Amino acid sequence: MKLETTYKSNNYPIIIEHHALDQLHDYIKNYQDIVLVIDQKVENEWSHITDFIASEYEAHKLIVPSGETTKTLSFYEETIESLLSKQLTRNTCLIAIGGGATGDFTGFLASTLLRGVDFIQIPTTILAHDSSVGGKVGINSKHGKNLIGAFYRPKAVIYDLNFLSTLPYSEILSGYAEVYKHALLNDIESVNHIEAQYSDEQALKSLDEIEYYLYKGVQTKLNIIVADEKESNVRKFLNLGHTFGHAVEYKFKIPHGHAVMIGIVFQFIVTNIMLNKSFNIAHYVNYLRGLNYPLDIVNDLEFESLYKLMLNDKKNDEQGVQMVLLKDIGDPIVRHVDYKTLSKAFAEFKSYFNK
Ligand code: NAD
Ligand code: ZN
Repeated sequence: MKLETTYKSNNYPIIIEHHALDQLHDYIKNYQDIVLVIDQKVENEWSHITDFIASEYEAHKLIVPSGETTKTLSFYEETIESLLSKQLTRNTCLIAIGGGATGDFTGFLASTLLRGVDFIQIPTTILAHDSSVGGKVGINSKHGKNLIGAFYRPKAVIYDLNFLSTLPYSEILSGYAEVYKHALLNDIESVNHIEAQYSDEQALKSLDEIEYYLYKGVQTKLNIIVADEKESNVRKFLNLGHTFGHAVEYKFKIPHGHAVMIGIVFQFIVTNIMLNKSFNIAHYVNYLRGLNYPLDIVNDLEFESLYKLMLNDKKNDEQGVQMVLLKDIGDPIVRHVDYKTLSKAFAEFKSYFNK
């Protein structure tokens, strides 16, 4: 399946299928220099593929530490200096082969190397259906995640779903949170459909039909980001589940999507209180239990410290904590939520997990 962004200019294709790599040639044949930036764990599993690409295109191979450890200033410095020592021309393409961390890092490298060279995303995780699209690239600062970065679009996203076969279940769960979030932003049919498809751990592990759901997820994200690339307006909707989720992720250092799923449940409780709705919270908690999300950490959550972290969220404005709520499935809005409401919602939230 293939999608294309619909900006006024500088559009890029997003190819989502098994064996999508067969099409890589069309996008890289004209570059003088090619650098593959590959996540270490991906390299461990897939070196036969990366070696093939490297020899076919006389590309440099750069293996980077697995996951988040790549997104640091010191590693960025080391890497960009080493790339500059290779006397690359401006007709260079960097190709990220890995999850969101490798993609964010490589995109940032590309945006700054020689004032900007091209880059291509080859996502290898489920989560990266989200991170590889939209042009946000960056690394972490000691002041917080993703604070050093740019908006910089890739030339193509080539999402070869064969890579997903080596993902551990924990990473499937992490990525699935964003797929599910996109369904919630879409409509009730999408949510019913995906819950029926992935009704328990065994079904989700199989990844049957994942191509369709990733396609739908990317399409939902595209509709939003093309309308608002720099997050002044509707792009905020993509933060559904993330205000509380980021606080939990930061505090407990758990995978992003595990925290986002917890944040999604919290958001439903706040929605019920603020918008006078009656979303069935037990349904969502049971759904997460059925998929085997690690939920024990909920017992260790404590309101005051999470509240402080929510206040620090860079997405807030001077009026305090902002959250995305759902007037209905598929109908998000952004609201300020005060201390009292958050604290009440938190007490209710805890009660669902004590059962
Ligand atoms: P990740 O890149 O850290 O990958 C997760 C883990 O899976 C790592 O240990 C990695 O080594 C491993 N891995 C990757 N592909 C594999 C494969 N095919 N087989 C086996 N193991 C594999 O994390 P992620 O969950 O893909 O992405 C999270 C990152 O994305 C965060 O840094 C987050 O800030 C960023 N992000 C960016 C955006 C954006 O718009 N730019 C959006 C969401 C998230
Ligand atoms: Zn996210």
